[in-house]
Amino acid sequence: SREIRLASRPFGEPDEGTFALVETQVPEPGAGQILVRNTWMSVDPYMRTRMNAGESYIPPFEVGAPLEGSAIGEVVASEADTIPVGAAVSHFAGWREYAVLDAAHVEVIDVENVRPQDYLGALGTTGLTAYLAVTEIAPVREGDVVFVSAAAGAVGSVAGQLARKFNAARVIGSAGGPEKTRKLTETFGFDAAIDYRAGSVAEQLAELAPEGIDVYIDNVGGDHLEAAIESLNDHGKVAMVGMISTYNATEPSPAPRNLPTAQTKRLTLRGLVISDHFDRFPEYIETAAPLLADGSLVTEETIVDGLENAPSALLGLLRGANTGKMLIRLTA
Ligand code: NDP
Repeated sequence: SREIRLASRPFGEPDEGTFALVETQVPEPGAGQILVRNTWMSVDPYMRTRMNAGESYIPPFEVGAPLEGSAIGEVVASEADTIPVGAAVSHFAGWREYAVLDAAHVEVIDVENVRPQDYLGALGTTGLTAYLAVTEIAPVREGDVVFVSAAAGAVGSVAGQLARKFNAARVIGSAGGPEKTRKLTETFGFDAAIDYRAGSVAEQLAELAPEGIDVYIDNVGGDHLEAAIESLNDHGKVAMVGMISTYNATEPSPAPRNLPTAQTKRLTLRGLVISDHFDRFPEYIETAAPLLADGSLVTEETIVDGLENAPSALLGLLRGANTGKMLIRLTA
């Protein structure tokens, strides 16, 4: 069995020296435990923030310890009455090929009707994040103009489509490069797209939304947040979902430089930490599963094969190498 450990804390962009691929013994389950062979792992931007020292809403990764994250696997040995060998499970012991887990710390999943990797994407934390952003953190109302950043990514692509389903008048997305921006309008149903690499976000947003925007789903922070504050109408709302433009930064971002405008426009900027809302999963699944099944919620994924390629997948995610959900596929 192999696992990936944090070898050293990165300053700025991580590199291969940040990670160590280590051979380990396949662990044996004790009473009440199961042995899981992982089949899919989620790669998430917040994993970069856990590499820094210092307390956040989630404790930092420890140097020398395996990384962790959401994963799907198959039970290959069981000392727990409740979970048989062969069951598919969802859990949090990713970044390793085999994991021993307490039965209480895994969820048995239905892989007859749902693709296992969807539990890491549209039907997992990714989708729930998008759903809460547009329904609760910055609720979209009928007729709203909505702006979504990192819109070709996992959360952003779902958020844009859900905003539309919840009656937004127009949904504008931003992404890096012509291919992704084309995908926003052609695949994910956005009304208009901004290529933030091609020019100023503020100028492009002002041009595409001359009437202003009402809701901003912020996955990026920095210049995107500044542009949104400029374009938001009075009483507009921002869901602060993520700040990916800052995760590798070695200095605080100067943007947004226009925060005083948020006061004069009476804006609401509200942060989201999705683990506060896991009780909303059943309601979300009820909404999203039929949309996914009938094809009216379109998702994409970028699949990287092999545990050894997980570090470069994470580095790639932070540079925009993915469209939709970034996943690692593990084979026996
Ligand atoms: P994505 O699939 O969106 O992948 C990240 C994307 O971010 C990349 O593909 C890249 O797309 C974009 N990106 C990277 N750097 C920059 C930059 N400097 N400026 C603009 N865009 C950039 O990841 P997720 O959907 O998993 O996550 C999206 C956001 O949501 C992240 O900020 C993440 O931290 C946050 N999140 C927050 C949660 C919460 O509980 N609050 C839960 C889950 C996610 P491009 O090619 O377009 O640049």
